[in-house]
Amino acid sequence: MDVPDYTPVDAPVPQGEVVIERACTAQDLGPKLNRTAADVVHFLLQAGEMLTATHSLSDDMIELFAEDIGANIRLVDPGEEQEVELQKLLEMDANETPDGPLRPPVVTVMGHVDHGKTLLLDRIRNANVVEGEAGGITQHIGAYQVEHNNKRLTFLDTPGHEAFTAMRARGARATDIVILMVAADDGVMPQTIEAINHAKAAEVPILVAVNKIDRDNADPQKAIAGVAEHGLVPEAWGGDTIFQEVSALKNLGIEELLDHLLLLAEVEDLRSDPQGRATGVVLESNLNIGRGPVATVLVQRGTLRVGDPLVAGASWGRVRALLDDHGENVSEAGPSTPVQVLGLSDVADAGDVFVVAASEKLANRVASKREHWQRQSSLGREAHALSGGARLEDIFSQIQRGEAATLNMVVKADVNGSLEAVTESLRKLERNEVKIRFVHRGVGGITENDVALAAASNATILGFNVRPDRKARELAETEKVEVRSYEIIYKLLEDIEAAMLGMLTPEFDEVVTGEAEVREVFRVPRVGSVAGCFVLNGVIKRGSGVRFLRQGTIIWKGEISSLKRFAEDAREVAAGFECGIGLSNFQDLKQGDVIETFENRLVERSLDN
Ligand code: GDP
Repeated sequence: MDVPDYTPVDAPVPQGEVVIERACTAQDLGPKLNRTAADVVHFLLQAGEMLTATHSLSDDMIELFAEDIGANIRLVDPGEEQEVELQKLLEMDANETPDGPLRPPVVTVMGHVDHGKTLLLDRIRNANVVEGEAGGITQHIGAYQVEHNNKRLTFLDTPGHEAFTAMRARGARATDIVILMVAADDGVMPQTIEAINHAKAAEVPILVAVNKIDRDNADPQKAIAGVAEHGLVPEAWGGDTIFQEVSALKNLGIEELLDHLLLLAEVEDLRSDPQGRATGVVLESNLNIGRGPVATVLVQRGTLRVGDPLVAGASWGRVRALLDDHGENVSEAGPSTPVQVLGLSDVADAGDVFVVAASEKLANRVASKREHWQRQSSLGREAHALSGGARLEDIFSQIQRGEAATLNMVVKADVNGSLEAVTESLRKLERNEVKIRFVHRGVGGITENDVALAAASNATILGFNVRPDRKARELAETEKVEVRSYEIIYKLLEDIEAAMLGMLTPEFDEVVTGEAEVREVFRVPRVGSVAGCFVLNGVIKRGSGVRFLRQGTIIWKGEISSLKRFAEDAREVAAGFECGIGLSNFQDLKQGDVIETFENRLVERSLDN
């Protein structure tokens, strides 16, 4: 590219670290580094990027320019620095004391699907309605409060760990105790392990409920032993985890379960000051026709009142009405109380922290600033918030800085044996300065859930003979979670070791180019099986590499040998069309299987060393 002659400004760069906001423009960047906007634009032009002075810059461009002129910068999300200030401003003279009277524990129920979470939550709710509220109609607002032995308990009634992880990914901690549900007839299942890992990663105490003991084929001891294998050892066996056998169906053991919860809460000594302006977290939020945006919030500190000016993320408003979990109007809500808030400007995000501001004007100001930043961030967001431990690409710089580095990982594999093998071998790579933390390990394809967990805990996902599905891939992209998939164990180890040594070299990365689902299987004489497929994504090309997936697990890898549209040979078939795919040497096709095509592209690894 022809670059016109240009003499850049040659002033000294600022001393020390300069904080630069992501997605800033050349106009913003230049002056911060004692340069003009034109300097930045010209530099980028030379680097092959044609941009105007008011165009948002990517992280790479900003870093490239800073490096070129020898400036030391730190990239922050738009508003990140001011956010701290805003938060202070908001909370100024809000209650400062973390202590105060005891507050009800907030409990989440997690466990494998069908192990009885919903039924248990219903049973607890119906049998323990708070005194004086029995007449109210049950409203599912995402949480409820019950009374047991004259003490209150709050349950988040969205079972499952998605909500839990989503919250944690946003830095909110809404749960004090997790009830892990394991069905006695089924024992520990993949989601049981996931739930354990989620709760452990969040450092929330776990109480185990062994459910369905009424069943003939129930084997509580086996279920308990299964759970104990994952580090939750019952007191009777010398551990410190409380186990309670229950039957949600027959209402057995539930009183005892609640007793245990209250006991555990007492040990945790959960306190909060009901005085002062309220803060807490948004549990759910939606748009209600007629009522406008409705948010269910959990008050964590202070008391929320009708008329309070409130900010939750980028939404704000004066509280018009508060509804409790029976749909009744209430005038206020104290610590650990879930309540629906009407009067917000917008639908807040689950996990957003809410704060009552000193004035409506301040609430408005903070919300509009955040909205502006959110828009900015989505323009040039690249980095990921660090939350202790590092991802693969950051590990070496962390070691170099002399920090004790922990590499966070989510490992998924096709079968238990290979999962063990991968884990064992990875363990052997540990050294004094680098520890490996397995945030989650499991058998099966890489799911959206794995990605959410990895995002929340800043982990890299390693797949062995398994692949991410489309939703997982999309989430990984937006959340900037690195997903690495291997089929050869030594290659996996080699890469991890290289990353630790800061030598992760450019490599060929497989880029998924197309995805088709097998809808029907035909036997063609002399050709073998041909899969009647529907192309879900991208383009399927003849000759591309192909992986054959059954429920996320790779069962065959090779090449497409024939590709047809109707009876005609086709070179490629795009998403939304049907086609016939024949695979050389692979006949074991089944309906519902997924054919994934890929190409090898050279990917530069960037390591700041
Ligand atoms: P979730 O997916 O974990 O929320 O499970 P559900 O609460 O929906 O329960 C799944 C199924 O198990 C339902 O058919 C329940 O009626 C049944 N179930 C739940 N608890 C028990 C129990 O204690 N005993 C028996 N026999 N069945 C139960």
